Amino acid sequence: MGSSTGMKADIESALKAGMEAGRAAHGGKNADYIPYLASVDPELFSLAIITADGQVYTEGDCDYAFAIESISKVFTLAMVMEHIGPDAVRDKIGDSPTGLPFNSIIALELNNDKPLSPLVNAGAIATVSLVPGESADECFEAILQCQREFAGRDLAMSAEINASEQSTNAHNRAIAWLLESAGACYSDPVRTVDVYTRQCSTLINCKDLATMGATLAAGGINPLTKRQVMDARYVHYILAEMMMEGLYTASGDWAYEVGLPAKSGVGGGILAVMPGQLAIAAFSPRLDEAGNSIRGQAAVKAAAASLGLNLFKAPCQ
Ligand code: GLU
Repeated sequence: MGSSTGMKADIESALKAGMEAGRAAHGGKNADYIPYLASVDPELFSLAIITADGQVYTEGDCDYAFAIESISKVFTLAMVMEHIGPDAVRDKIGDSPTGLPFNSIIALELNNDKPLSPLVNAGAIATVSLVPGESADECFEAILQCQREFAGRDLAMSAEINASEQSTNAHNRAIAWLLESAGACYSDPVRTVDVYTRQCSTLINCKDLATMGATLAAGGINPLTKRQVMDARYVHYILAEMMMEGLYTASGDWAYEVGLPAKSGVGGGILAVMPGQLAIAAFSPRLDEAGNSIRGQAAVKAAAASLGLNLFKAPCQ
């Protein structure tokens, strides 16, 4: 990308390429293990690119607010990383991919009941258990405030989504109790799952998601509010986790094909980050077998390719 006019044109054509690729991607279905997610219009589709210096480009249903779901894990990890540091994160939670589904119990058993990755449910629940606070409300408020700082606006939890998730989260409760028995749940397990479930229920739109990613791209400075919302020294650890485990069991394929740290959620959101440059976010509810948005992946992949962005390629390639 060259001059700012050239860059604007490049990003506009990347958005167009992304929208076209997304529209052409068919199949999959909404997540249905959380009743609310099954009820979302499967045809919704949005794409946004926000640069590290705050230029905003959006297309499609960008006003539609969806459940952040698993993408919340990234920002709670950022907060806990600042609180206890990367060595303690590695020691208490782990830092490597599991190679197994996001809510796997076997993954825990194979690793002496330690989560291994902060971006699978077990690791994210352990991460939430490390958020300081006297009560569930206090911990959740700290998490929501962190999400707001990354998004640069006043986000809120959806009571409807939270109720839908709380009534169907027996599996996550089981994970929390297994962590507790292994000494890897660092607060009361019932309270921890309550807070974890709430953090998944925040409503964001595609622009919010791209802003959250652009903040990581800009070394922890929100490019819209210009506030330093996380310590720049820790951003690369978060991006490394996204590269290793951000797209569930398809994370390896994503690294191979796209080469950008990314995170998706079963609500249909997906976020990719090019450090120092920009973030690309997409939303569309239909998911593939691994739990990633079908249109979202196609759109982000095409937009990144159009801009020539891949961490593993030298600029001339
Ligand atoms: N709330 C969801 C769960 O814990 C989030 C899963 C996801 O998006 O991967 O099952």
